[in-house]
Amino acid sequence: MAQVQNQRLEVGKGEISGYISIFLSIMALASMFCFYYPEKLTTPEFREIYTAQHMQLLLKTVVICAFFFALLSFLLSKKVKWALIGSSIAGVAIIMGALKVQGSVVEKSDWYFGLDWMLLDLLLMTIIFIPIELFFPKNKNQTKFHAEWRTDLVYFTISHLFIQVFGIITQKPAVLFFGWIGLDKVHLWIQQLPFLIALVLTFVVTDMFQYWAHRIFHNHVYLWRFHSVHHSTQHMDWLAGSRTHFVDIFFTRAMAFVPLYVLGFPPAVFNIYIVFIAIHAVLIHSNTRINFGFLKYIFATPQYHHWHHCEDPKHYGKNFATVFPFIDKMFGTYYLPGNVWPEGTGVHESQFPKGFIKQTLYPFTKSPFDNNLDMEERSTR
Ligand SMILES: [Zn+2]
Ligand SMILES: [Zn+2]
Repeated sequence: MAQVQNQRLEVGKGEISGYISIFLSIMALASMFCFYYPEKLTTPEFREIYTAQHMQLLLKTVVICAFFFALLSFLLSKKVKWALIGSSIAGVAIIMGALKVQGSVVEKSDWYFGLDWMLLDLLLMTIIFIPIELFFPKNKNQTKFHAEWRTDLVYFTISHLFIQVFGIITQKPAVLFFGWIGLDKVHLWIQQLPFLIALVLTFVVTDMFQYWAHRIFHNHVYLWRFHSVHHSTQHMDWLAGSRTHFVDIFFTRAMAFVPLYVLGFPPAVFNIYIVFIAIHAVLIHSNTRINFGFLKYIFATPQYHHWHHCEDPKHYGKNFATVFPFIDKMFGTYYLPGNVWPEGTGVHESQFPKGFIKQTLYPFTKSPFDNNLDMEERSTR
């Protein structure tokens, strides 16, 4: 599709530092709301991990960095535009109390949005992936500000803000179907296992469940409509993986949660798994040519997952596993040709809806019994 491509930003021109300043200042401003309304805008599970002191320190650092990058932008570009926007927003954050805000005792609330989770994850992901994509890009012509980056950011925002809803619905099926079985003996056995074995077991069993959930979404016409949203990205980057329909998220995560629940892994194992998946899922979509040497035969890499997103129907139906390529080997869906990457990614429908709302509604606009699909879709997805 002919699309007006924005220019990729170049290092040393003051534009990147300008955008970093604006980004950090918006982060600082948004985090002020977490301090003002912690009951409604922060996550109880995360409040147990961090303290108000941690967050105050982080907030101050972010504000100082916003000013630092504003200055850098001005010095490099000799333009005041980005520096002015960045430092103005950071200034508003300071007026709102960013440098002297104190944490307070937080009351329990029945409902909350995960604004803290969203901001912290966004900050961590940008720190890791912006430099990787900047210095080791796969597609050198692709800019972060491509045609659909806002759509992907909306997906990222929604899936983080609604962490409570996603968490509850994800865990329901496992509890409903398996909660009534006496699992105490299984849990006891699992908790006696050496840590490393429990960890490997968690990863393998969960990935196996994830593999089949994913494959089912490809092979059933109606489910494919939900999953095709994830495949519709033509610009693979670290934010693109966020583009997933909520039905897809619920079902796939619920499937992955079944073995975790049934086997009852210790919390430490569970937490390592969650952190690994959060970073790894972003990595495999990112626009980087880093290929991880021999590790690419053990763990799914960007190249591996980009092939899963290949737009050429010839390569549909490959690399369903999220973490372990050997699972695809086992079930005959493995594809990783040397150092070759797919030409393009995306779905083959020229009219695929654009934007969060249209894409969210799209699967519901067709009858579940309608099998009349395009040739491409009917092929080996
Ligand atoms: Zn897929
Ligand atoms: Zn993907």
